[in-house]
Amino acid sequence: MAARPSPYLDDLNLAQREAVEALDGPVLMLAGAGTGKTKALTCRIAHLLNTGRARPNEILSVTFTNKAAREMKDRVGRLMGQAVEGMPWLGTFHSICVKLLRRHAELVGLKSNFTILDTDDQIRLLKQLLKAYNIDDKRWPARQLSGVIGHWKNRCWLPEQVPGGEAAAFNNRGIELYKAYQLRLRELNAVDFDDLLLHMVTIFQRHPDVLEQYQRWFKYILVDEYQDTNVAQYLWLRLLAQGHRNICCVGDDDQSIYGWRGAEVGNILRFEKDFDGAHVVRLEQNYRSTPHILAAASNVIRGNESRLGKELWTDKDEGEKVRLIGHWDGDEEARWIGEEIEALQRGTRGLRPYSLDEMAILVRASHQMRGFEDRFLTIGLPYRVIGGPRFYERQEIRDAMAYFRVVTSNDDDLAFERIVNTPKRGLGDKAQQNIQQTARHHGVSLVEGARILLDEKGIGGKGAKELRILLDGIERWSEVARTHTSRAVLDDDEAVIDDGGARTSMTHMELAEIILDESGYTAMWQNDKTPEAPGRLENLKELVKALESFENLQGFLEHVSLVMDNESDAEGAKVSIMTLHAAKGLEFPAVFLPGWEDGLFPSQRAMDESGLKGLEEERRLAYVGITRAEEIATISFAGNRRVYGQWQSQMPSRFVDELPEEHVEVLTPPGLYGGGYGAASPMSSRLDERAASADAYNSPGWKRLQERSGSRPVSQPRESRAPVIDAQAISSHTVGERVFHQKFGYGEIIGIEGDKLEIAFDKAGTKKVVAKFVTTPND
Ligand code: ATP
Ligand code: MG
Repeated sequence: MAARPSPYLDDLNLAQREAVEALDGPVLMLAGAGTGKTKALTCRIAHLLNTGRARPNEILSVTFTNKAAREMKDRVGRLMGQAVEGMPWLGTFHSICVKLLRRHAELVGLKSNFTILDTDDQIRLLKQLLKAYNIDDKRWPARQLSGVIGHWKNRCWLPEQVPGGEAAAFNNRGIELYKAYQLRLRELNAVDFDDLLLHMVTIFQRHPDVLEQYQRWFKYILVDEYQDTNVAQYLWLRLLAQGHRNICCVGDDDQSIYGWRGAEVGNILRFEKDFDGAHVVRLEQNYRSTPHILAAASNVIRGNESRLGKELWTDKDEGEKVRLIGHWDGDEEARWIGEEIEALQRGTRGLRPYSLDEMAILVRASHQMRGFEDRFLTIGLPYRVIGGPRFYERQEIRDAMAYFRVVTSNDDDLAFERIVNTPKRGLGDKAQQNIQQTARHHGVSLVEGARILLDEKGIGGKGAKELRILLDGIERWSEVARTHTSRAVLDDDEAVIDDGGARTSMTHMELAEIILDESGYTAMWQNDKTPEAPGRLENLKELVKALESFENLQGFLEHVSLVMDNESDAEGAKVSIMTLHAAKGLEFPAVFLPGWEDGLFPSQRAMDESGLKGLEEERRLAYVGITRAEEIATISFAGNRRVYGQWQSQMPSRFVDELPEEHVEVLTPPGLYGGGYGAASPMSSRLDERAASADAYNSPGWKRLQERSGSRPVSQPRESRAPVIDAQAISSHTVGERVFHQKFGYGEIIGIEGDKLEIAFDKAGTKKVVAKFVTTPND
């Protein structure tokens, strides 16, 4: 074969070159973050093509996301100096298996046009099954069964292969139901996501001729992020590679973060056993991060006992230390990060200017995103959410908002349609059509139509009963929304009543909670046993929290519709917001890591677990997070977070203590010294909240922050120095005065109307707000 020049090899270090040039036989590249594993893998593809070892369609290359696959393909093209056509087998495990299974579907009793069920379809199917088996799906929810079956499929167990030790699963009926579910799928000519791999492994195991065909076809196999493969994926790879053994896997045991989804780090260790004589390449030079960042990450991961252990080095210039900052609360944290991003954009403190594309915020839990999204929308900072919908686009948020919409406007038919059978109320398509027809016939809204239908007894059974409950609820909630809700803190009379302990009305946050509870919506997710359910409940809490900055439900809904309207897919630089899980393999010059607090990161679940497994996985996530940063890493935590309108005091994460002091600079929140923003943020006048805050200030979390700050004392939180503006102060506002609002930032008063102020905000435009939420900057 003609030897073409391979200039891409010149960009590699010796160890990488070794891994790229060892084209034949098994290769395991085991190395830390940022050492150029993915780069080496990409060069290896280029080299295979360039040396004529394989054609593009003879290379099987597995990446963790479709995005990573696209990028890899582009890079191969760039390395070769020409676009690469036809790499059909470069993709995720799932995308590759779909293609294979379409070709061989009949071997597992399917037709080649089988459907792939999404989670909703799958749950619906399991529910039908539970019904057929007379199993109460309230006690034994379909989602739980789905979790059990998924767990078995990830281990590549067919129903008859599930080991006896698992027989007790799902009230002793798991295996039987798994079997029935597989039969039903076959009848429907359908598969679920996990089946894609399971079926392919089954086919390869039962049909050696088919396996051989692919063993020959895929001359070379490459796998990125190998540490996160599960057993089924591992078996599939092993089967395919056993012929020629030309398999190259790259991974980092310290970045294994999908244990909760069945990934097994053990696969790395097994590799050397299964592929005897494997060429093991270790890379130690990190090309991504500055020494301070690298040292911080290495020190954190050193806390894990179960690791293979490796040291990284870099020859980059020293750069900035890892920055650590504690904030009074979560809002404060979001505001500071917003300002900091803008400062970095301008190029402050002798740093180069950073474009928004170069910055990312990596959160532990997706519910943390809301605070940032709201803040960025307010100040007009373009952002994108990677690996998931933006907060207000999430299913549970849209559902909850549909409830609020129906309550504030009973005519909102679209919203009513969304919630009428969510949670399930036994109102199927037929019943819903009936409601539609009645409404159309009488020329009224769906809510009204439903009422008429009930009165006319046009609907019966469970559905009728549940519909009546829903309509009564809507009526009750609407009434409360119209007449009774106000913020106790906004209204002087009420504040007095509050102090006396007698509550005559409720806040719109309370109403929101009541709507979600009484409608059964919260319970729907509480009974849901999928791994996503806790996150959805957190998001709902976050939603209720978001209401706090608004006067009533209506005001909030208006804000959101504006937000959604403004949202453009405009091209241009944007800050990325994503979870730590989604950030795997990526890199950014400047990274923000907020919410480093015990209970959030590490998660409460990991902390409650006996043994170290959960905690060690969280620590690996911390390592993944820090090592995404090239030049600037900023870790932050808040002393307080508000959950359901209640302050909760937070301890800085135990991982904060694991950061090596000599590589960390503790920043001081500007607000704490009256510098920086110089304004007091508003504080509710509710006594209980104040008490809670005072406690929080004495909490060990704040004390630890104080200790860490060393010579720089952390002074009183701003709130406790700046008195909440009372009724008198409100009347003392004057037109032309500069004020500060927690949500909208600085602005100038242009009109006063009772307790409402019209303010031209510097960033958020002109808005009417309640005076209680406005403070005068502290001089
Ligand atoms: P992760 O574990 O986070 O997935 P990785 O080991 O895959 O990291 P890469 O993403 O391949 O690392 O590389 C990290 C950065 O270092 C990239 O910007 C890459 O271009 C650069 N890089 C890798 N190898 C070299 C090299 N030999 N010379 C210069 N830069 C390199
Ligand atoms: Mg990589």
